[in-house]
Amino acid sequence: MSTTDNQKGCLCDNGEYIVIACSGSCDLGQVTDLVARKLRVNKIRKMNCLAAVGADIKPTIEMFKTANLLLIDGCTVDCGKKILEKAGINNYKYMRITDLGYIKGQTPVTNEVIEIVYEKATVDY
Ligand code: SF4
Repeated sequence: MSTTDNQKGCLCDNGEYIVIACSGSCDLGQVTDLVARKLRVNKIRKMNCLAAVGADIKPTIEMFKTANLLLIDGCTVDCGKKILEKAGINNYKYMRITDLGYIKGQTPVTNEVIEIVYEKATVDY
């Protein structure tokens, strides 16, 4: 098996600038995931795991409370936002893909879409 970016080292980075994504199964969830990974690959933010918050992993939750955290949700169901708020994480930057005009279930996950959302994430957040 070849080594991909997803397999290089531990991905649960705990640097100061962190991105987490809802990584949902729909097109917009996929966009959140790919944009978060692109931010990591380009060393803009370190990617960490939203699932760790859902699993009540205390060190991750505490680290997120003090980090410069960006959460990317795909749609207005706001899964990531609800998970963070349930864990008492209230201080974070927030990006929702539908707010950028994309429609859930009708957005082809193309390089162009990823690039546009990525640029927003780097410039505005
Ligand atoms: S926020 Fe929307 S896209 Fe993301 S996991 Fe929830 S339902 Fe899916």
